[in-house]
Amino acid sequence: MKLKPLKLYNTLTKKKETFKPIKKGFVGIYTCGPTVYWYQHIGNLRSYLFPDILKRVLKVHGYKVKQVINVTDVGHLTSDADEGEDKMERAAKKEGKSAKEISNFYFKVFKEDLKKMNIESPDYWPKATEHIKEQIELIKKLEKKGYTYQTSDGIYFDTSKLKDYGKLANVNVSGLKAGKRVAVGEKKSKTDFALWKFSDADAKEKRQQEWKSPWGVGFPGWHIECSAMSMKYLGEHFDIHTGGQEHIQIHHSNEIAQSEAATGKPFVNYWLHGEWLTHNGEKISKSKGGLYTLSELEKQDYSPMDLRYFFLSAHYRKPLSFSLENLDFAKTSLKRLKDIVSRLKEAWSRTPTGPSNKNIELAFGEFMGFLDDDLNMSRALSYLWEILRDDRLNNSEKYELAVKFDEILGLGLDKEKKVRIPADVKKLAEIREKAREEKKWEDADQIRRDIENLGYIVEDSEEGFILKEK
Ligand code: AMP
Ligand code: ZN
Repeated sequence: MKLKPLKLYNTLTKKKETFKPIKKGFVGIYTCGPTVYWYQHIGNLRSYLFPDILKRVLKVHGYKVKQVINVTDVGHLTSDADEGEDKMERAAKKEGKSAKEISNFYFKVFKEDLKKMNIESPDYWPKATEHIKEQIELIKKLEKKGYTYQTSDGIYFDTSKLKDYGKLANVNVSGLKAGKRVAVGEKKSKTDFALWKFSDADAKEKRQQEWKSPWGVGFPGWHIECSAMSMKYLGEHFDIHTGGQEHIQIHHSNEIAQSEAATGKPFVNYWLHGEWLTHNGEKISKSKGGLYTLSELEKQDYSPMDLRYFFLSAHYRKPLSFSLENLDFAKTSLKRLKDIVSRLKEAWSRTPTGPSNKNIELAFGEFMGFLDDDLNMSRALSYLWEILRDDRLNNSEKYELAVKFDEILGLGLDKEKKVRIPADVKKLAEIREKAREEKKWEDADQIRRDIENLGYIVEDSEEGFILKEK
């Protein structure tokens, strides 16, 4: 099937661009992952759905995809200004556990949540604490090239040394120089950021996670982990980087700065950012409410697929307003969709469509066209509904299309595997149907057993027989 080119909105160039891979047939994707000090809430979960759709779309285009999702288990401070406590250390203290126990626990829950949401696992799950060596090496490289300076609390990246710092977010560095109005401590510019932070020798409690480095005992900054780990697994220059939109300004701007300064090459070709899941018009967060976890929703009788359907109902670059009422709507729609697909399956199991059906090919092309337009998942989802209402298609075609679309939507519309019933089994079922019509019950029972011996089950419905795999 001939597909349209895939277009993606690139935050770096601020326009929709036709996707071109660096290496023919291969795409590397890095997705900013969880800070594992607490549960990932449903807002966080939204930011992993569009990369999942992206991967599925790329695979339809014939690409081999390698995805990395990092696990931030050190260095993410409570303030983006390189101040405050390390979120992991704070959670460990609060829960009276080791930082390792905390990170292992929340990482495990996160992986389970992704699985429940039918979000495919990445190829690599690198943890920041297991890549300290790589991060130190990267900082050493930056130091050698003259991009760093030391303050009393750490090693910092000097953003004034880069001509294009802030190009992702259009940050005007000159307006942000350290000055009276901006508290920057010993930083030279407000935009400078920590690469390595020293452990506080005077702290009442010693940090649980700290390492020796050429500059002193401490821990890496949050941004350096993503540069070091993405480059380790995907190379110094790779295709796509994804994350939530709040990372544009600081985290991703800093990733670009330090990576490009270290290698002298472009870092990432396409930057994709997801909009927030909101509640009462504000980003879902601990302080603002709407902060459900997936398990909490499950306890209230919502399924992870209800949430997936809800996420699919909006473009990933548009805010999505969460409320239980909105989720109810998604739940009802998904149930209706599944009921329709199950009824269509009955028709399909009696008369499946032929192998190269023009209607299916055309409709699938149309569906892909929406996704190829910057992953317009909500339009693709509404197109599925249009297909189900389209009188020009027969029920078997509709079923085949629903199942085919679902390979990308991932809603589990047809939980039972699609099976092709062999012609001899179908013939037997037809003979049995005739025997039933003629009230030859013994013959009908014998044929049922024959069908079972061939590995299939025959069931009777108002519209005729249904064949399933045993
Ligand atoms: P964190 O665990 O805080 O590092 O966040 C993990 C991911 O979730 C990041 O890509 C964030 O941008 C994203 N994220 C956080 N809050 C929201 C939200 N309300 N809606 C969508 N994405 C979010
Ligand atoms: Zn990151």
